[in-house]
Formats: sequence, structure tokens, C-alpha cells
Amino acid sequence: MTGSGHAIVIGGSVAGMCAAQALRGRFDRVTILEQDRLPQGAEGRRGTPQAWHNHFLLDVGREAAETLFPGFTDLLLARGGARLDPGYDAAACFATGWMPRARTSTSTLFASRPMLEATMRQLLLREPGVTFREGVRVVGLLSDGAGAQTSVTGVSYLESGSPAGGELRADLVVDAAGRGSQGGNWMRQLGYEVDELTLDAKVSYSSRWYQLPDEPISWWKWMMVLPDSDPRAAQSHQYLCIVFPIEGNRIIAMMASWGLPMPSDAESFERLARQTRSKEFGRVLDAAQPLSGVHQTRSTRNIWRRFDRLPSPPRGFVAVGDAVGAFNPIYGQGMSSAAVSGLILHRLAERIDPVAAEFPAEFFAEQARFLKRPWTLAITRDRGYAHARGTAAIIDGPHKTLLRRINWPAFQFFAEAVWQDSAVDLHFNRLINVRESLPGFLTNPRVLGGLGLYGAKKLLRLTRVPPTVPAELPPPETDFSAMRGLVVSSRTGVLR
Ligand SMILES: Cc1cc2nc3c(=O)[nH]c(=O)nc-3n(C[C@H](O)[C@H](O)[C@H](O)COP(=O)(O)OP(=O)(O)OC[C@H]3O[C@@H](n4cnc5c(N)ncnc54)[C@H](O)[C@@H]3O)c2cc1C
Repeated sequence: MTGSGHAIVIGGSVAGMCAAQALRGRFDRVTILEQDRLPQGAEGRRGTPQAWHNHFLLDVGREAAETLFPGFTDLLLARGGARLDPGYDAAACFATGWMPRARTSTSTLFASRPMLEATMRQLLLREPGVTFREGVRVVGLLSDGAGAQTSVTGVSYLESGSPAGGELRADLVVDAAGRGSQGGNWMRQLGYEVDELTLDAKVSYSSRWYQLPDEPISWWKWMMVLPDSDPRAAQSHQYLCIVFPIEGNRIIAMMASWGLPMPSDAESFERLARQTRSKEFGRVLDAAQPLSGVHQTRSTRNIWRRFDRLPSPPRGFVAVGDAVGAFNPIYGQGMSSAAVSGLILHRLAERIDPVAAEFPAEFFAEQARFLKRPWTLAITRDRGYAHARGTAAIIDGPHKTLLRRINWPAFQFFAEAVWQDSAVDLHFNRLINVRESLPGFLTNPRVLGGLGLYGAKKLLRLTRVPPTVPAELPPPETDFSAMRGLVVSSRTGVLR
């Protein structure tokens, strides 16, 4: 397809690059305006401070990224990324202890966030039609017309670190400026009020990067220890702990919590890491060499800017990625949602001229149908926390207490039920991969039947799920794949 005209994308991170790639060919020029100067390789930068923290790329996001950037997965793997099975390659300690190890029907891609971004950037710039302008901070939208006839016609910008600036005209402007985007304010200046749904469960992350020794230190490739579900447990037992492998035989060790103070200096990070629910976390850090200081973030609020609710959004403007829906990152949905939004943009632009008046409303509606899934998944658990605040918070009371009490045990129950029943397994993985909604999952007759049957078997002690191993013990290596229900192997893609 040969296009005409000019599109501007504000922000050159994951969402911005996916959007630019989606529009390549629909416009003869796509310009990404990025406030940062971009590194040559896989290095962090100021505009994406979250890059110090672990970034899971769900299978749904990997597939969307692969569709937009053919060769993405192989290039990332060639650069030291890993595609791992969350059941077989992981040591996972849930509410009652270490889960039995077995293959599942899904996989997750592991690499550092800077590597992921650098890989995408390399593929984006392989072909002409998309250019970056670095060190350019967008400060406003240009527009024509008024009321229902309003069109966004470009942006005004400042050169980073200088009072100099200018204006740049475009037929379509895409806001991909991340969770701190000013898109809602810019809309207000044009006379549009964008509803903003929020829920802040006060999640904070503390992460530190380490070099592993040459000799493997464990059978598992990544590790996750969920918080102790007993609210009376020691604070450090209520941390979520993750060991996340990245390229270069390195790991990101991360501790997170819902509402607790988290370590921000090396001394307290190292000390508290050794007081967490499982000794395995501290053991790994003992064997590894720190490569960085401790990076802490509280920038984890769930936000959904409802551009889709504008009765008649202005022509020539859409928004993607965290600028629209930013989720509590613990659920690992952000980059995948950004990539899926890129695909939605691409497919819609093949059907409807992206500069047509109806394009923004159609795009926002389709994007919202998708975003409802990650949003619901993220807020359902977060709403149970007594300290959670925001427009989507629920009032204190029995409903909230129940949500809080059952969320980790319910997760454990689902994780066990998938063992028993391959249909529940497939639906559960579709749920985690935001291919299926939470209400859809919970009302699916096949899933309900499977969960009910598993519950009954559990009561009668007739399940074939091996018992969990207490968190105090080392994670067991035994492979129980042969005992698990018939599943699609994530390695081979065939039914076993
Ligand atoms: C702690 C943490 C952990 C996370 N873990 C995961 C995970 O495990 N899995 C996952 O999928 N997602 C995760 N995420 C979310 C993920 O980082 C984002 O969803 C994803 O990067 C998509 O973001 P984006 O491109 O919309 O915005 P960002 O990555 O935030 O990028 C915004 C870009 O816009 C630029 N910019 C901003 N304002 C302007 C302006 N005015 N003019 C020009 N440029 C501008 C910035 O410099 C930046 O490059 C995590 C987030 C956090 C905070």
C-alpha cells in the first residue's frame, strides 16, 4: 500500500514504535518525536525509568510484536533473550508453597526492557518511511475548526534543554507519550473532557541488576515467590519476589509490595532480600555480583483514559499504549497492550482512511473493547486492598475484605485446577494473555465445570496434582509434566 501525507507519533518507546510501524505505508512520512536522545544499543534512558525493572512480554504481546515486526522474536533470542515456559522453566512459590514443575501451554519472552526496545527500534528503522526526531518534547496540539468540526493538525514542541521550539504539521497525531501523557489536558484545551478512571493500589517495586556466575546456580531459569497471604506475616514475607533473567547471563532481582515501604538503598535491599518468604531469593543474590544500584518506583497506578467515551473525538488524533491504558505492572500487560493497540491501528487503517473524520472514534472504540480485558484483570485484585484509592476503588466493607482474602488463594486454586484439566489450562492462559476476559473466563461453562470438578476432587483428595512444597524448602526440580492433563507444549506447539 502506498500512502500519502504525514503522521506524527509522540514518544518513541514500545507503543510509539508499534504505532509508527502500523502506519508505515498508510502515510508517506511517519515522524516519531521523542524527548530523549536515544542510545545506540540496549541502554536505559531518562524517559523510560521503568526500564530498570523486569518486563515480561506475554505471548499475546510477542505475537502482536512479531506481526508488526517480522523477525522480532528471533532477533531478541539471538541477542540473549529467552522464551520460557512459566510452568517448566520457573520455580513458582504460590500461597501454599512451591508449585509442582510441569510444562504448560504458554510461554513468556524474557529480555531487559532496553534490549527489547533496541531490538524493536532496529527492525523499525530497517526500512524507510519512519524517522525519529530526538530531543524534541511535544508541548501541545495544533488544531483547526471548532466543536464537532475540530481537527488536530499537528503539534508544538520544544527542543529538549533549550527554549527553542516550533510547530510541525501532520494529518494524524498519535499520542504514545506514556502514563505521564498530557493527552487528556490537550483534549481539554480543545474543549473535550476525557474521563480518567484510576485505581492506585500503592504498588512499589525495588529492583537491582546482577551478574550471574558462569556456572548455573539453579535448575530453574526464573523464579517467582508470591506474597504470604496472611496479613499478619512479617512485612518482608509480604513482598512479591522475582528473579528475572536477561541477556548477558544477568538477572534483575525485584521485590514489590502492595502498600508497604520498600528498600531504596543497597544495604536495606540486600538485608531484606534475605528475610523474604523463601531463602532461595537470598541464595541467588549471594551467588551473584551486583551491577547496579537499587531502583525504586511507585509509578504503578492503574489509569484508563476513556477517549472512547468522547461522543465525537477530534479528527486527526488517536492515542495508544500507557497514554490510554496504564496498568499495575505486576500483571505484565503494558507492552502487550501497546503492541495489540498497534495491530488494531494497522488493521483499522487498512479499512478506513486514518485521516477520515470517523477514524478516531472507530479506533478508540475498538481499542477500548480490547483494553477492558487488561483493565478488569488488573483492578479486580487491586480493588481488594484496603489502601487502594481512585475512581475505580470500592468502598470498605465485606466485599472488599473478601476480595483481599481470596485473591491469592483463588489464584492458587486456578493454578492447581489447570493441572487437572487441559481446557481450564487453555482458558486460564488465554485469560493471563488477555485473549479472554475475566467475566468470560468465570462464566464459561467448560471452565466452571472444570473448576467445580477440581474443587470436588480436592475435597475428596482425589486430585492428581502433586502437593506443593513449603516455601522454607528449596524449590523442587522434579518434572511432573507426564502427570499433567493433555496440554499443548509451548516448546513444540503440538498436543502431547
Ligand atoms: C515498574 C514497571 C514494570 C513494568 N513491567 C512490565 C511488564 O512486566 N510487562 C509489560 O508488558 N509492561 C510492563 N510495564 C509497562 C510498560 O513499561 C509500558 O506499558 C510499555 O513500555 C508501553 O509504554 P509506552 O510506550 O506507552 O510508554 P513509555 O514506555 O513510558 O514511553 C513513553 C515515551 O514517550 C516519551 N515522551 C513522553 N512525553 C513526551 C513528550 N511530551 N514529547 C516527546 N516524547 C515524550 C518518553 O521519553 C518515552 O520514550 C511496566 C511498567 C513499570 C512502571
